[in-house]
Amino acid sequence: MKPAPFVYHAPRSLEEALSLLADLGDDAKILAGGQSLMPILNFRLTRFDHLIDINRIGDWYGAPRLDSSTVTIPTLVRQRTAERDPALASAVPIFQQALRQVAHPQIRNRGTICGSLAHADPAAELPSVVSVLDSTFTVASSRGKRTVDVADFFQFHLTTALEPDEMLTEVTVRKPPPGTVMAFHEFATRKGDFALAAVAASVTFTDGKVSACRLAAAGVAPTPQRLTAAENLVTGSSLTSSACSAAGETASGEVDPTSDIHATADHRRKLVDALVQRALGDAARQGEDL
Ligand SMILES: Cc1cc2nc3c(=O)[nH]c(=O)nc-3n(C[C@H](O)[C@H](O)[C@H](O)COP(=O)(O)OP(=O)(O)OC[C@H]3O[C@@H](n4cnc5c(N)ncnc54)[C@H](O)[C@@H]3O)c2cc1C
Repeated sequence: MKPAPFVYHAPRSLEEALSLLADLGDDAKILAGGQSLMPILNFRLTRFDHLIDINRIGDWYGAPRLDSSTVTIPTLVRQRTAERDPALASAVPIFQQALRQVAHPQIRNRGTICGSLAHADPAAELPSVVSVLDSTFTVASSRGKRTVDVADFFQFHLTTALEPDEMLTEVTVRKPPPGTVMAFHEFATRKGDFALAAVAASVTFTDGKVSACRLAAAGVAPTPQRLTAAENLVTGSSLTSSACSAAGETASGEVDPTSDIHATADHRRKLVDALVQRALGDAARQGEDL
């Protein structure tokens, strides 16, 4: 199928894009990599009278920026660019770990990090990744700029804190403290498919014990779900295999997924148990090398 007719806009600057958004509001949608938006339009699941293609707003928006304490991912950084960026992989390895499991390379060549975050698919990998990091979202409109904490950004299935006239211009992540390791594990029916469930983990070790732990699951709730009871359970422990098993069981009791044509709720709960154990086991192995 083909999309319903729309007017195509190709602004050359951020200001021009924001001015179009202000004028067109609900009738317009931003086109970034197009890897989620175009299939939805082609299937006529929705329609918009105007598409604002931001791909020409400038190279400056296309590469991650790192300084001594933060990593900033501007709006046009492709998923594949981030996956292959050695500095990003060294500073915040969970991006690379998760991106390798997002769709297929052809899709990652075009799809953007910010596009995936703005789209907020509950089964997507990247929203759960940023949920275990100290992340803030910079949002711009012709009214000005504001920052949104990750805890407030994802609001519901495909719904974020973005207003119709706002654009996500970058996501900024604070570099984790020394002694931090990360892991990302998911289960998908076929390689490249959306995950039935996924778990992101960031674990900080101090003197051989877990001093901080963040876990987030994807595919089991309308937004990424932090697994706080499991996090609390392992904090202070030396992350033995029995601590990992107990955390998996605890996490599976924290989630309340729904059944759909892809998996039952019970299956998804069991996946969360297994994936938490895998992610924490992975973190424990990395912790031994610190
Ligand atoms: C076959 C296939 C398999 C896939 N598998 C996976 C998968 O396993 N995991 C996964 O996470 N994703 C998957 N995807 C989706 C892919 O990762 C998309 O690239 C991503 O979800 C959206 O990024 P995009 O840049 O293509 O955004 P677009 O498709 O251009 O936009 C998506 C939505 O976000 C909005 N948007 C985009 N950028 C901004 C911005 N800067 N500010 C405000 N709003 C914005 C758009 O208006 C639109 O509503 C798959 C896609 C395909 C086609």
